[in-house]
Amino acid sequence: MGLTSSGAMRHCVLLVLWLLLWRLSVVMEYAPHASIWFPPVALTLTALLFLGWRACITLTVACVLSTFWEESIYLTGRSIQELLVSGSLFAMLHVGVYGAGAAVLRKSLAHITSYNLYSVVMRFLLVCAASTLLVSVIGTLVLYDGLASPTLKETLIAWWIGDMSGLLVMAPLFVALFQRWYPSQNFLSDIAFVPIVHAKDFPYSVKLVLTMLGLLFTSFAAYYFDSPEIACFVFFLAMPQMWIVYTESPFHAAVSLALFGFTMAGLVAFWGIDTQAYIFQFALCVMACSTYFSMAVPALISDNHKLHQQAHYDGLTQAHTRQSFFNTAEQLTKQAARYHESLSLIVFDIDKFKHINDTLGHIVGDDVLKAVAQIARSECRESDLFGRFGGDEFLILLPNTPLESGVKVAEQMRLAVSHVSAQFDGIEVSCSFGVAPVLIAEGVESAFELADRQLLMAKRAGRNQVKWPQF
Ligand code: GH3
Ligand code: MG
Repeated sequence: MGLTSSGAMRHCVLLVLWLLLWRLSVVMEYAPHASIWFPPVALTLTALLFLGWRACITLTVACVLSTFWEESIYLTGRSIQELLVSGSLFAMLHVGVYGAGAAVLRKSLAHITSYNLYSVVMRFLLVCAASTLLVSVIGTLVLYDGLASPTLKETLIAWWIGDMSGLLVMAPLFVALFQRWYPSQNFLSDIAFVPIVHAKDFPYSVKLVLTMLGLLFTSFAAYYFDSPEIACFVFFLAMPQMWIVYTESPFHAAVSLALFGFTMAGLVAFWGIDTQAYIFQFALCVMACSTYFSMAVPALISDNHKLHQQAHYDGLTQAHTRQSFFNTAEQLTKQAARYHESLSLIVFDIDKFKHINDTLGHIVGDDVLKAVAQIARSECRESDLFGRFGGDEFLILLPNTPLESGVKVAEQMRLAVSHVSAQFDGIEVSCSFGVAPVLIAEGVESAFELADRQLLMAKRAGRNQVKWPQF
């Protein structure tokens, strides 16, 4: 399959971007062959994920060119032949190991939901740790005098952490960006987790600026006092990052993490606090892990909220469901008992509703149900509890209301409901009402039985009326 011109263009962009990132990481070098963080690995893994073997040639060229570029910077006096061998070995190791990592991850990155995100994140973290460790072990052994090198351990750890933080932080963001280029790939496509954005929350830019200021301040203090203890304060910056994760989209969270990584590496290099770099690197890795695991939390909260709404409120009329009504009514009754207050219960049912359904259809029937519920609720006080018992039967608990007042409210409602008729051409809408006091000793259930009996009497007496027990 030949490359189309746009395909070739994308390979050129990949090559240039990879080399730029590589050059940037050289600026942030703090140990031989070890950058504070090394984002080109993330680009490699992403390109191999999306393009498979087609990315190998571009990435091999990038590795070889970077070896020549490195020589032009450090002037180690290697011959062209040596550079070609060294660049090819680097490419084989780099493309081979991250290609294997991409193969392991390929399946997991499709169909991520908020419920399985944790297992995909776990797999991603393991691939990050294992592939970067493998590359740095083989890399240090090949580049240095094998096991005899006196700085083997230091170089190996520096290389590993630098590569790991680059991969960990940048790969998800690159995958999200590549997905826009290659929509057919379907990676991360199910991630549209809804952030919980509160009306009074701060804009994303404010949160970003706060994080960057925190980083600037901490890195400066670590430099000024030459203190690793002060550098440890960088872990506190997980707070603004988590604020972003919980309130912004996953893409915004990934962008802020990437910005944090670049700024952190830049500042460590700028202040020359290489000896404390590992603290910043660990903070970045911990932040990245927390960010990915927490990305699903806003979606889970949002799902939970929806389920709570569905469990407690009837979808059609927004009245409390029967279960929710009786649970809440029980609590209100206990409160009333404490304050020696009286409560009333109204039960009402639409008259001849079957006839409305049969003549005008169930859709209009639903509209009538909604209209009746709305008008009944508008007659309620804020403190009243409005519920749907089922079908066309509703319940209202009136706290701090004696029976006579409850009857008055029911009568007002009966009149108000008659106005609903005007909304529906040619049908008469009315309701029958039963009212009963809630006797604290007997509870809401028995008040319901009493009010329901009164409702039945209202129906038998000709409908469109209010009945209550005469004590
Ligand atoms: P009555 O005056 O004695 O109350 O007569 P009725 O026809 O209203 O009888 P009943 O209250 O027993 O009828 C309730 C009907 O409401 C039966 C059922 O088909 C209908 N219904 C129940 N739930 C819904 C709903 O959510 N939407 C619609 N459109 N109809 C419903
Ligand atoms: Mg009815």
